[in-house]
Amino acid sequence: MNELTQLCKLLKKDFTPRIRDPSKPVRCWSEKDFLEDKVVDVYVIILRTRGCSWALKSGCTMCGYFNDSMWEKVSDKDLLKQFDRAMENYSGERFVKIFTSGSFLDDNEIKPAVRNEILRELSEKTDKVSAESRPEYITDEKLSTIKEIFQSKTFEIGTGLETANDFVREHAINKGFTFNDYKKAAQTLKKYNFKLKTYVLIKPLLLTEKESIDDSTSTVDKIKTYADTISFNPTNVQRNTVVEYLWKRKQYRPAWLWSVVEILKTSKKLAGNARIKCDVAGGGSIRGAHNCNKCDRKFLDAIVDFSLLQDTKVFEDLDCKCREKWLDQLDIENLGFGSLVDFSGRYQ
Ligand code: SF4
Ligand SMILES: [Zn+2]
Repeated sequence: MNELTQLCKLLKKDFTPRIRDPSKPVRCWSEKDFLEDKVVDVYVIILRTRGCSWALKSGCTMCGYFNDSMWEKVSDKDLLKQFDRAMENYSGERFVKIFTSGSFLDDNEIKPAVRNEILRELSEKTDKVSAESRPEYITDEKLSTIKEIFQSKTFEIGTGLETANDFVREHAINKGFTFNDYKKAAQTLKKYNFKLKTYVLIKPLLLTEKESIDDSTSTVDKIKTYADTISFNPTNVQRNTVVEYLWKRKQYRPAWLWSVVEILKTSKKLAGNARIKCDVAGGGSIRGAHNCNKCDRKFLDAIVDFSLLQDTKVFEDLDCKCREKWLDQLDIENLGFGSLVDFSGRYQ
């Protein structure tokens, strides 16, 4: 076990999960997304499971999803109750996203019988279902069963590759799998004609702003033939993570929204047929990707519009005095080995 893996583990040592009702889902809500060239309403369900198996071993440096997990087994009966409760607010959306704070295909989180029962019901009610999984659970055995359930309907798996660079994934993110593992999973999904959404992390720990822009765009170039959708997630500072540990010590600043826009514009040119989107969790706050505060809302709205419309024209009118500060950061951060404090003007 290397030092980063140990630190990820250590930061969870004293963490006590909150007492939660195992028969209630984490959250469910309706949002907009894209289906067959149209913007539609999508129903999103997050089930509360035992938690991501990788997080229970050590976990990724930026991931605080375990804060939502039970950290103990959730019975099959409770998982089905969670699903039934979530479906009480379902209003006929043709597209459903069903997530756990881990991997929907991991048998340690959801047993095959429960998973298949949930998928069967969703396949009858919808045209598209999207779930998430680490690559090691994307196997022929699981996908062939899901294919029997879905037949010609659309099933999508989202997987957090984060970067195509194995060194960054291992030493800055502690992800625990390789680019080859991802490619193998992508090929398995293709065999069954399932869709692949790939999450790419903007501004992993220990990368400068400039390195992160380059890392994200070169990742798009390397995965564009595998991914149907490339979904960027700028790092936000979540509780009990290595990112938070360094952020509190002023050794980490979440990405500038200027960088996010730059990445989206370049990615759109590079991506070929893959859709590009970006979900800025915590955007505009000190824990999320942000600019100077004055312009954050305009940037966040443009990013939402771009994710739906795929048109970089939405970025054309963005301007603010803080652009100079962002450019300064790109110029001088190497001198400080990437450890510049947040000088966007908000917290001085
Ligand atoms: S990012 Fe995904 S794989 Fe990593 S710890 Fe979180 S849930 Fe698990
Ligand atoms: Zn600004």
